[in-house]
Amino acid sequence: MRLINHQKRVEEIVYDSIDELAEEFNLTFPYYPSVQYVGKGFGLRFEDLNLPESDRKIFDCLMRSCPVISVYDRMIVYSVGSRSPTFLHEEAAHFLHSKNSRIRRHGHDEVETDKILIMKEMLGFFGALCLGKRRNPFKITPDLYNEYPKALDFTDRLENECGFDDGQIHDYWVHKQGYSMGQMLFAEYSSGRIPKDRITRLFRESFSRSGRANAVFREVRTEIGWPMKV
Ligand SMILES: [Zn+2]
Repeated sequence: MRLINHQKRVEEIVYDSIDELAEEFNLTFPYYPSVQYVGKGFGLRFEDLNLPESDRKIFDCLMRSCPVISVYDRMIVYSVGSRSPTFLHEEAAHFLHSKNSRIRRHGHDEVETDKILIMKEMLGFFGALCLGKRRNPFKITPDLYNEYPKALDFTDRLENECGFDDGQIHDYWVHKQGYSMGQMLFAEYSSGRIPKDRITRLFRESFSRSGRANAVFREVRTEIGWPMKV
């Protein structure tokens, strides 16, 4: 397939996804993000992207795990495989979330920052489930809710066998918790126990008051019936 066709296809998936979620949950956005498809067989180098040096670490990390890199309002897609639509759906949800919540990047303490990151991943995953209309598409490692002991073992293996450093383990746990909560949120929403306007409020929540992220995090856990202290 010619490069232009890949480019058009990924743009269409991302823009349709943003439109669909915005319509479903009464959300707004001022513009679409820029979407760039990188041709197959081309190595993607940090130097080619004109990003600030401070983003090098996140670039390295994303390159290892994800076929889409999202920075600011730019999505760089460097592999269109069978799982890519799911990644594009999640990034579309992240984009809408950031435009509606206007969460500040800095100024939160460590506990609050973690809760915000978990809830970002929760809504990203929730959005991917809404758009993909299927069961957990990322179920490639033990689930934190149903398989908690296995998930702990898996984390040990990441550390001891795969050499994950503290930052990577932390990032893994943030995603794992967010994804597990997103899956439960989706189950509650689909069955009508959580109403649509609650989801809209979660997308719009800015967490600007101190302690707010922790409070919302706890509320959501209660609403979805999360049973354990992790
Ligand atoms: Zn994500």
